[in-house]
Formats: sequence, structure tokens, C-alpha cells
Amino acid sequence: MNKPVKQHLIDPEICIRCYTCENTCPIQAIEHDDNNVVVNADICNFCMDCIPVCPTGSIDEWRVVETPYTLEQQYEMEELPEQEDIETVTTDQAADPIEELLAEAHKGAGGKARAPANAGKPTVNMYNLSRPAKMTVQGNYALTDDPDHDVRHIILDPGGLPFPVLEGQSVGIIPPGVDGDGNAHLPRLYSVSSPRDGERPGYHNISLTVKREGKGLASNYLCDLEQGSTVDVTGPFGATFLMPSQSDAHLLLICTGTGSAPMRAFTMQRQRSGATGGMTMFFGARTPKSLPYFGPLKKVPESVLKQHLVFSRLPDQDKEYVQDRIVTEQESVAELLGDPRTYIYICGLRGMEDGVERAMTSIAQSMGIQWTALRDTMREEGRYHVETY
Ligand SMILES: Cc1cc2nc3c(=O)[nH]c(=O)nc-3n(C[C@H](O)[C@H](O)[C@H](O)COP(=O)(O)OP(=O)(O)OC[C@H]3O[C@@H](n4cnc5c(N)ncnc54)[C@H](O)[C@@H]3O)c2cc1C
Ligand code: SF4
Ligand code: SF4
Repeated sequence: MNKPVKQHLIDPEICIRCYTCENTCPIQAIEHDDNNVVVNADICNFCMDCIPVCPTGSIDEWRVVETPYTLEQQYEMEELPEQEDIETVTTDQAADPIEELLAEAHKGAGGKARAPANAGKPTVNMYNLSRPAKMTVQGNYALTDDPDHDVRHIILDPGGLPFPVLEGQSVGIIPPGVDGDGNAHLPRLYSVSSPRDGERPGYHNISLTVKREGKGLASNYLCDLEQGSTVDVTGPFGATFLMPSQSDAHLLLICTGTGSAPMRAFTMQRQRSGATGGMTMFFGARTPKSLPYFGPLKKVPESVLKQHLVFSRLPDQDKEYVQDRIVTEQESVAELLGDPRTYIYICGLRGMEDGVERAMTSIAQSMGIQWTALRDTMREEGRYHVETY
């Protein structure tokens, strides 16, 4: 089997055949026939000179492939090929550990994760350790009012650099400096918490939701960043924890803490696209003060997002965890489990997995079905997603 490589493609459905990119490419890696404009995989060195000049954005497409599409195959394309299901992405030194991190994070799905069939086509591995995207910090805001749970909303601006992301993808942040052996630190993964067209629509900036970890290297670096600082970013990463594009899909979101990051992105994208299927969220935290986005969540109408905010440390109240509330709400959850338009997303602390599994097992039992069988079917259909860390 060939080693996977990143390949630069042009979207034939969007390209207007203006040939600006071909004239711009300094090493003649782009050519065209009567049908398509194509990139020669043997020549392209990812210099990115062609990206900003393209008036349509169609030049900004990338796939990880074991065998690059030939020029002939690209000339025949009527649409972009799907990202192939490639197990290990080793396009650069840093890709292996990232893939391992993602595989570990998705383990709780109980099998190989799959994207929803009609999800957008994600771009992965555009920037790596040796060639990170330099982004500028546009803002860094506290999301919690709890000294033991400092969670921050950090907005990054890629400037003129292309950095296409879909909701549910992650980016790598490279902490500055070197480790004990004198090597650059490996990137840490952070879910993007803004939708595909940007934290501010059309600006293509991205936001992250970062929890400060005691002596954590990257999280402290990020949480202390000042406006105007520059950050090295790799990625984007992740090709399965993606949302369906069909408007009448219902999203069941289960999260704790910074697991709310992709859920925020999903919610904003669904609101911006006018999706009709609705969403239900079970969100666990110790108190309202330690629940990220508590204020903004209150403004999201129930018709868009039905919210169950669950607290485990409220004074004078019994501890309640997400799995407890799921069981309390078992009738409506059972209804969702029985609907083929339901997509489940679980994100946050690894510790939540067992409880959620137990709650789902008992609800499935009440429906006369076996949870593991239902979960495996949903996963195969790209409708069951777990990302825990
Ligand atoms: C797919 C994925 C998505 C993620 N998304 C997010 C997200 O959206 N938001 C988020 O906040 N995190 C997210 N994470 C977790 C994130 O990647 C980091 O693991 C996390 O921020 C900690 O990194 P760090 O560099 O701060 O800690 P590290 O330096 O890697 O340390 C790891 C742990 O060890 C402890 N530690 C380090 N040094 C010492 C020491 N000397 N003594 C005692 N303890 C020590 C730290 O406190 C920390 O808890 C995600 C992870 C994955 C895999
Ligand atoms: S990325 Fe650079 S080398 Fe590749 S096609 Fe574009 S301009 Fe040419
Ligand atoms: S610049 Fe963009 S739109 Fe024009 S030919 Fe190249 S890819 Fe197509």
C-alpha cells in the first residue's frame, strides 16, 4: 500500500475556468483542457500562491489519497471525489500522533467512526508542524466565572491564508518552545467552536473553547494569549465528527465542559442555514458559573435547541449528571432513538461515556431493542459520534 499523500484538487462544479490560477502558479503545476482545470500532483509543492487569486474558492480543495488522481482522471471529473476512508494519514511527521489522538478520542463509538453520508467534504492536513498556519488572536474572553474552571473563548484570524473548516473538526495548536529533547512540542487538538463561514459570518475566522489545565502546556499558553499575538496552527483535522447537511435531521447533543465547542459550531451553523429538524442538548457542568456559554445559550430559542442544562454541584440539591437527565427524559429520548433522522454526538470528558452508555442501554431496553445493536447500526450510518478526551 502506498503512503498516503495530500493532493491538491480543483472543484470542477464551482470553477469558472478563468485560468487565473494557471497564470499565477510559479511552477506550472496547473493546466487545463476543454473540460477542466487540474493540478499536477507530481509538481505542486503547496506554495499556496494560487489560493488567494481564485475568484470562486474552487482551487482550495484537498484530499488525502494513497494514489494521487492522475491528470487524466481529473480531466474527467464532474464533481470532486469523496475523501477516501484512509486509516492512517502519514503525510508528515506530525500526522501520525494526531491520527492516534483522534482514534483514541473516537474509541467510545464502539467501532470505526463514519461521517454522515451527506456531510460536507472536509479538508484535512493542510498545515503541519513544518508549515503551520500563522493566525492572529482577535479576542480572548472568559466563559466561566469559576476560578477552578477557567474556560476561554479564543478567536483566531487566519488573515489571507485559506483554512477551510467544517463544524466538528479540530485544529492543532503548537505551543512555542521546545521539549526536553530540543524538539518542537507536538500540537494539542482543539475543536473548532465556530461555524464554517466564520465566528463572524463571512470573515472565516475560527474560535476555540479552551479549558485551562493545572500545569498544561498548550491550554495555559492559549488561555493567556493577548489580542494581536500570533499562534501556530496545524490541521484542520477530523473527517467523521461532522454534521449532516439535511435540514430535517435532528441532532442529539450530549456534552460536558469544552465538549460544548463542536456543539456551539453545530448550533450556529443550523441557525444560519435555517435547518428545521431541531436539536436536543444534554449539557453537564458543576454549576451555571462553570458551564461555558451559559449566557449565549439562554438566547437560543427552544425551536432551534431544546436544552437540558444539568448541574452536579448546586447547593441544597442532589447531584445530577447528564446520564441521570437522559433517563429522566427517556420518553423523548426513546422517540429520537427510533427516528432515522436522529444523529447523536457525544463530546467532552471521557468519564461521561460509561454513564451515557448505561442510560442508552436502559432506554433501548424499554423500547425492546438492544442498545449495542442500535448503536452499531447508527454508527455505520454515520449517525453516532463520540469524541472524548
Ligand atoms: C479530538 C480532541 C479535541 C479536543 N478539544 C478540546 C477543546 O475543544 N478544548 C479543550 O480545552 N481541550 C480539548 N482537547 C484536549 C486538548 O487537546 C489538550 O489535551 C488539553 O488542553 C491539555 O493540553 P495541555 O498542553 O494544556 O496539557 P499537557 O501539557 O499536555 O498536560 C496534560 C495533563 O497533565 C498535567 N500536567 C502537565 N505537567 C504536569 C506536571 N508537571 N505535574 C502534574 N501534572 C502535570 C496537566 O495539568 C494536564 O492535565 C481535545 C482533545 C482531543 C483529542
Ligand atoms: S499550490 Fe502552488 S504549486 Fe500548487 S498549484 Fe497552487 S500555485 Fe501551483
Ligand atoms: S482561478 Fe479558480 S475559478 Fe479560475 S480557473 Fe483557477 S480554480 Fe477555476
